[in-house]
This record gives sequence, C-alpha cells and structure tokens, in this order.
Amino acid sequence: MAKLIVSDLDVKDKKVLIRVDFNVPIKDGVIGDDNRIVAALPTIQYVIDNGGKAILLSHLGRIKTEEDKAKLSLRPVAERLSELLKKPVTFVPATRGKELEDAIANLKDGDVLVMENTRFEDLDGKKESKNDPELGKYWASLGDLFVNDAFGTAHRAHASNVGISSNMPQAAAGFLMEKEIKFLGDAVENPRHPFVAILGGAKVSDKIGVISNLIKRADKIIVGGGMTYTFYAAKGLTTGKSLVETDKIDLAKQIMAEAGDKLVLPVDNVVATEFANDAPHKVVEGNIPDGYMALDIGPKAIADFKAVLADAKTVVWNGPMGVFEMPNYAEGTLEIGKALGELTDATTIIGGGDSTAAAKQLGIAPKITHISTGGGASLEYLEGKELPGIAAITNK
Ligand code: AMP
Repeated sequence: MAKLIVSDLDVKDKKVLIRVDFNVPIKDGVIGDDNRIVAALPTIQYVIDNGGKAILLSHLGRIKTEEDKAKLSLRPVAERLSELLKKPVTFVPATRGKELEDAIANLKDGDVLVMENTRFEDLDGKKESKNDPELGKYWASLGDLFVNDAFGTAHRAHASNVGISSNMPQAAAGFLMEKEIKFLGDAVENPRHPFVAILGGAKVSDKIGVISNLIKRADKIIVGGGMTYTFYAAKGLTTGKSLVETDKIDLAKQIMAEAGDKLVLPVDNVVATEFANDAPHKVVEGNIPDGYMALDIGPKAIADFKAVLADAKTVVWNGPMGVFEMPNYAEGTLEIGKALGELTDATTIIGGGDSTAAAKQLGIAPKITHISTGGGASLEYLEGKELPGIAAITNK
C-alpha cells in the first residue's frame, strides 16, 4: 500500500519531528561508520530546504546503566551531521523538559536540532523501548508534523516511532524509508523472475521465517553458511563437528519437502579441524568427516551458485556463506558477492550487516541496487511480516 511521503507534506514554517536511524558504531566519541547519517540526509535536507524546522530523534545503542549514557550520547553524531549538512546543528542534551522545549521554540525555518538519545528514557522503566503512552504523546506535542525515516527500527514499536505516529493526525515516510519499502516490497510482492534468494549466516532458526515466506515466491533459494549443516543432517549426511541445530532438523526436512528443487545446497565445503583460521583445512564433497567442521562452501558449490545467479533478475542476499571473518573461510562469501556485483540486468538487494560488510570489502556496493540499512527489519520484511513502524505510517 502506498504510504504518505515527506514530499507530500507542506513543511513550511512547521516544526517537523523526524525519527532517523543514527544508530552508528561509536567508540570513545568517535564514529566508526557514518553511513546511516548520510542515508538520512535527503529527508533532512528536503525539510530544511522547504522552510521547515527539523527536530531529529534517534536511538543509539542500548542504555542499561547511568554509565552507558556517557558512551552513547548523540552529541558526536550531531557534530558529524553539522559537517555533512555544512550548517550549524543545535544539540540538546535532554529528551524532555524546559531546555528542549525552549530550544525548539527558538528554531527558525531551515534550522536543525538533534535531541539526546531516545533510549536515555529506557533507564526509567524502558519508556522508549516499551512505547510508554505518555512519552509518545509528549514527543508528539513537540512538533506539528511527523516523518519516520528510521527503517532500522521499523520492526519495533517504540515511543519514538509508533508512539509519536499514533499521537499525530498523520505520519509520513522519509525518503530512506520510502526506498527501503519500495525495493524490499517489490522483491517480495512483485519480483522480476527468476527471483533468487541467497540465505546464509549462522542459524536456521534465524532465517526460518524468511525461507518459509520466500519458498512461495522465489524460483531458487540458495542456502550457505552455518545453517547449511542442519539441512545436511536432515538429508542424512554426516556433519562432523559442524554447527547443527538438532531441534530444527525436522523443520529442515519439511522445508526441503516443500521447496523441492528450489532449494540449492552446497555440494562441497571447506572443512577444518578447529574453529580457527590456521587450523588444518581441506575441501570435501558431501559428508563432513568426523573431527571436522564445515566453515565455508567449496569451489563446486561456488560454481553451482554462480550458475543459478547468472540469469537471475531479482536477487536478495542475507547472510555470509561461511566464517568470512577468517580469511581462509571467506572465499564463498566473497565470490558470491562478486557474482552479485557482476549482474548487469538484475535488481540486487543486500540485507544484514555481514553481507553488507562483505559487499563493501569487495568494493561492489555501488553496483548493488539496494543495500538495506536495517538488518532485523529487512529480515522481518522478507518474512512477510507487517512491521509496526511502517504500519503506523499513514496510507495514501
Ligand atoms: P548471522 O548473524 O546469522 O547472519 O550469522 C553471521 C555469522 O555466521 C558470521 O559471524 C559467520 O562467521 C557465521 N558463520 C557463517 N558460516 C558459518 C559456519 N559454517 N559455521 C559457523 N559459523 C558460521
């Protein structure tokens, strides 16, 4: 369903609350990767260019103790935002109260304000994360309009997204949210065929929902990474010391029966004696020998997967094909990433931190149609679930 977008709003002279996702990696006040700040710029720029006053809310990390507050202030983020926007940004070290309200009252058209980390409210009864009704209502009272551009938190009903939305006559999606909904939505609802999903990562249990939803929609589902070996066990192959979720073997059997030849598993693997980069390792086909654990897909599997990808028109990739953090087991993930980067007539979508990191490491990110900013949110979207943060945005 089409959603109201920020560009549908008349923002002139208005106080526009914008929920952004500034949940960036930060250590000792230094931002490791400012991608998420950059991704929020189009919406912020649109609001200020059109004479609105931008009031930004975001969470950063998890606040469990008073000490966490010093490490997870949004002040460095506000400073970085000011550099990126090339204009002053007011930072208010509070999530409520007179200082914040006065600063908002003093904003002029085109000004930008960042308030403190919304999760500072979690110290007192998890008000932000539990969507405390009073808090959502209070934040909503600070603005005239609400724009939600934080796809990364769309799978959670928090006070700063759902809480504010439900206390405003309408809520609009920002441009980043719009883009995420468009690409992930099209892939799930209306893909160009052949539609291939590549699913990896450690556990079957994390990806079960995605596999079940995509069996009905995808032409092929390529499975790699640690979750492969639960399927191996389901097929009656030996798994050695590999990662196997024994309580998911029956489920893996059901999935295999339902998916038939849509499900593509690796025929060979790189197996090692220990979970260590320098452990003795070799390539084996089929059964994983006793005393060995499979840590990457093998060369035949890479060739098979590439053949499946060759004529794909829509590809969704979530999760590494092996323990790609260790160079000796990174090849499967890197080769699949490369193959994705080489597709010229396909819509390619990557979700999840590890696959995104692999894409960046390979320098193929610019060739990917869409790299989702939301790990958990993109998975839940691919599962076909309704995300509360998106449901709370007004339909057009
Ligand atoms: P996820 O967070 O579920 O996407 O899983 C990512 C993690 O899975 C990465 O840290 C990988 O190292 C790990 N992983 C991938 N393949 C394997 C494997 N064959 N055995 C153990 N861990 C794996």
